[in-house]
Amino acid sequence: TQDRVFNFAAGPATLPENVLRKAESELYNWRGAGMSVMEMSHRGKEFMSIIQKAESDLRKLLGISDDYAVLFLQGGATTQFASIPLNICKPEDPVDYIVTGSWGDKAFKEATKYCKPKVIWSGKSDKYTGIPEFNDLDQNPEARYLHICANETIHGVEFKDYPTPKNKSGLLVADMSSNFCSKPVDVSKFGIIYAGAQKNVGPSGVTIVIVRKDLIGDAQEMTPVMLDYKIHADNNSLYNTPPCYGIYMCGLVFEDLLAQGGLVEVEKKNIKKAQILYDAIDESNGFYRSPVEKSVRSLMNVPFTLDKAELEAEFVKEAGKEKMIQLKGHRSVGGMRASIYNAMPLAGVDNLVAFMKDFQARHG
Ligand code: PMP
Repeated sequence: TQDRVFNFAAGPATLPENVLRKAESELYNWRGAGMSVMEMSHRGKEFMSIIQKAESDLRKLLGISDDYAVLFLQGGATTQFASIPLNICKPEDPVDYIVTGSWGDKAFKEATKYCKPKVIWSGKSDKYTGIPEFNDLDQNPEARYLHICANETIHGVEFKDYPTPKNKSGLLVADMSSNFCSKPVDVSKFGIIYAGAQKNVGPSGVTIVIVRKDLIGDAQEMTPVMLDYKIHADNNSLYNTPPCYGIYMCGLVFEDLLAQGGLVEVEKKNIKKAQILYDAIDESNGFYRSPVEKSVRSLMNVPFTLDKAELEAEFVKEAGKEKMIQLKGHRSVGGMRASIYNAMPLAGVDNLVAFMKDFQARHG
């Protein structure tokens, strides 16, 4: 509508308008409870119904089997960088990390405190513009798990398929923060999937961890209770006060994704939006450029540069005047970045592309 901007931020990011409207209508008095979700006891029947529905809808969306626990935690995906090795490794365990961008690198660095991780592939020398050939990977058969970042939010590279772990427990662990619920995923291929909510499925403050149940219960002795999957699994994410309102919002988003026809339909829309934007970049005769190797371009985060780099600030400024905001690239890479998560409407991408063409016509 008129008063909303198109927000291309990487996260916290735009939320579906109908979800915001629904939350607005329920804010003051949730379904006759006489209070808002923010004011409820997390152990009361109302909130229990909210968190249970959120979990069962997420299970439906991703087809998550009973072999997996679904945890709603706090601390962001960043906390999981430590929680994962603490929960499933001994301090001496070797672990393999594929580093396709800044987030994979951060995950690796944090893990060095709790296990013996090794970077078996890094895209750094190519400025993180690609994904490795899986067959060439030098995986350690003794590694406890293989870690990937399924979508690098800053660099815009996305795994379109997943490597088969060659370690003896066959464990693949993935940070899906920036492409969570953007497409169907075969959860059974993973030991752990984790994601901060604030890009595709809700506000910040909620971190979702999908963990195979047999991996729970063997955490390192020093693991803080708040990081111990067993504590949270045994208590259905209610060991301490959870981020109640955030979980409620995630629940509304899951309902909305199901109503759209589930992740198969959601992915179709995401492919279409990304295609329109990448086509505009590729067909600009070099005025705009995408640094990322074509086959692994992210459907969620689209970094691009201007051939005339001196125009970048002007681009961001003019776009802002037309209610398209947060298009500046991450400070570490520069250029521009359009994050086009599930909740970015097609109209937002259409507007951006029209603006890009107009900008090029004026400055090209
Ligand atoms: N992983 C990825 C892929 C991310 O995009 C982010 C946040 N931008 C993080 C991890 C860190 O998440 P949080 O801020 O929730 O700790």
